[in-house]
Amino acid sequence: MRVLGIETSCDETAASVVALDGASAPEILSNIVLSQIEEHAAFGGVVPEIAARAHVEALDGIVEAALADSAVSLDEVDAVAATAGPGLVGGLIVGLMTAKAIAAAANKPLIAINHLEGHALTARLTDGLDFPYLLLLVSGGHTQIVAVRGVGDYQRWATTIDDALGEAFDKTAKMLGLPYPGGPNVEKAAASGDAGRFAFPRPMKGSAQPDFSFSGLKTAVRQAATAIAPLSDQDVADICASFQAAVADALGDRVGRALARFRKEFPDKASPALVVAGGVAANRTIKGTLEALCSEAGFAFVAPPQKLCTDNAAMIAWAGIERLRAGMAGENAAGFVPRSRWPLDSVSAPLVGSGR
Ligand code: ATP
Ligand code: MG
Ligand code: FE
Repeated sequence: MRVLGIETSCDETAASVVALDGASAPEILSNIVLSQIEEHAAFGGVVPEIAARAHVEALDGIVEAALADSAVSLDEVDAVAATAGPGLVGGLIVGLMTAKAIAAAANKPLIAINHLEGHALTARLTDGLDFPYLLLLVSGGHTQIVAVRGVGDYQRWATTIDDALGEAFDKTAKMLGLPYPGGPNVEKAAASGDAGRFAFPRPMKGSAQPDFSFSGLKTAVRQAATAIAPLSDQDVADICASFQAAVADALGDRVGRALARFRKEFPDKASPALVVAGGVAANRTIKGTLEALCSEAGFAFVAPPQKLCTDNAAMIAWAGIERLRAGMAGENAAGFVPRSRWPLDSVSAPLVGSGR
């Protein structure tokens, strides 16, 4: 089975071909990702209009490159899978319409994929995980804990009540005058900082409510920075280190709660696992905290390669394969309408063409 995947929901234009043959491990035959970071850097964040335009300009070439790289012709693919939401609607339209045109021209079925389902199933592509497992998705737009119980069977256990974690990193960086994207730059500055200098709040820590919150932490960072301005490089480093420590601590508390819940809900699961996905999962302090937490709780800690943790089309092609082989691809999704909002726990039914 070969599926061509297309991803355009945010600021990456991506295409990929993934293959699954019989009982052997799946294979990523090509995985092309064009990041628009430079186009958006001057604005300190993703500008939807610029993103949509950049997808239009790049997508055809990216799809061609993905097919060429895979040495698979369009004739040989079994289906075209494209992200249909959630995300920036301009980009979604570009990707889904392109996929519809390709599928129609090549007479192949089209599968509409939920972007979050792509993230949720990646660990089965990279590590062959069995259901159920726990997923922590921490990116620029999402902060969620999801129980992944099967294809199309997802239960969201926690989400953020305000900012996404990546967004909190990006806003903190901006306040401190660090360049976009903020996450990697905050981590770099934190390396030479004193994490004990500022006692930032650990939002939600100890709360029985499962969700995340990061806007209060952001405010605390702003107040600390304003109080000691102008900031020296050391001040910036100390704030970054203290911020990162607070985030890791708060995250650890939330995830620890979810691990305990997983044990309770799936007592028969012999080797439970926590999977991390999203750009923030690259952060070594956060990774270290989660790794320690998992080893203490007897969970395997699964972190797929960074290239497959951030937005990419291999995860979309793979989700297409998972749906095809589960008989959940739906009828041809040619009539599917892009959805800017599309919660993961609402994708259980086969996705049919009507859109809404
Ligand atoms: P979506 O949320 O729609 O999946 P996105 O493009 O916002 O997409 P990703 O590309 O997965 O998300 O991740 C980008 C985010 O990850 C940014 O907010 C960035 O600052 C953050 N990030 C990247 N590297 C690090 C790091 N080392 N530490 C902390 N945050 C990081
Ligand atoms: Mg991105
Ligand atoms: Fe994503």
